[in-house]
Amino acid sequence: MNLNYNKEYNKAIRAWLLKNYNYAKLLSEQKLISRVCPVCGSQQNHFFANNGSLNYVQCNECSLAFMNPAPAGDSINEGFQGDDAIVMEYFNIMMKYKTALPEKPDPLIDNKLSDIYRIKSSGSLLDVGCSVGDFLHKAKYFYDVEGVEVNPFTAAVAEQFFTIHKNYLSELKLPADQYDIVTLHQILYGVPNPVGLLQDIYKVLKIAGKLYINTPNSDSFATEFYKGQVNHLYGYTTQQVFNRKSLERLAELTGFRLLTFRTEWLDIYTTDILEYMQNPQLFIHKRNCYVENYEEKIAAEEALHSRLNYSLGNRGNYLVAVLEKV
Ligand SMILES: [Zn+2]
Repeated sequence: MNLNYNKEYNKAIRAWLLKNYNYAKLLSEQKLISRVCPVCGSQQNHFFANNGSLNYVQCNECSLAFMNPAPAGDSINEGFQGDDAIVMEYFNIMMKYKTALPEKPDPLIDNKLSDIYRIKSSGSLLDVGCSVGDFLHKAKYFYDVEGVEVNPFTAAVAEQFFTIHKNYLSELKLPADQYDIVTLHQILYGVPNPVGLLQDIYKVLKIAGKLYINTPNSDSFATEFYKGQVNHLYGYTTQQVFNRKSLERLAELTGFRLLTFRTEWLDIYTTDILEYMQNPQLFIHKRNCYVENYEEKIAAEEALHSRLNYSLGNRGNYLVAVLEKV
């Protein structure tokens, strides 16, 4: 069963999100720093959304949506390393509801593997920000896998099975030109310096090595509809939201080219829309578990979406891209 359909898990995540919102409010009352676009450096931007506490703008040059003003980068990295009680609570919920290890997936169908597998079906793979190692447990059947994880608690879980490098890529001094594939699952949105991260990945990849990226999409229908209340802008942890244009700009600036691009998940459910309209004070995108039979309703809608098999073009709620080191 998909964890999102587990009522108790959803209640725990909703309670955690409410703390997250309170912390975002506290942050918004402290000293925030105005910043230029973290991809292209432009100072020209316009309002994108406000999540109730924090403001997001969109770059006029590369179209990156990013938090502005924002807390200093150092305080964000400290959170990833386990100094942030709210981040730790999320990891504890994840561990409590952790599901069994995945069996060997069909790599041509599995939506976390297929994009990369179709291009490169063997070799060495480094999952950056591997958390407890969920993706590594899938990828290990096809690749020689290793992980990078800065949080000591989640790294300790992954380390029971895999080689895990426990520091930032920039600090690790891994050998150059070492890996065939690097993967970034839901990492790029939260890092203070996405250009620096891709530059570090560039160094460890072999020539023509592949970089897989899965991250929120600012061009999604869900973002357009819910604006500051879209799940991508929950709380304070999202630094930036990419779209195709800003991702291509990031690739270009760091020595990569875009090989494949698609988007996935509509993430708009009529059950949610009703709450958005009728109970705006209670509404949390995809987490309205106070609604009777919420999980069953969302699961039924999701099954319908899947059967309809419509094309989302560039407007799914997440973007999935494979880049190549030029
Ligand atoms: Zn920009």
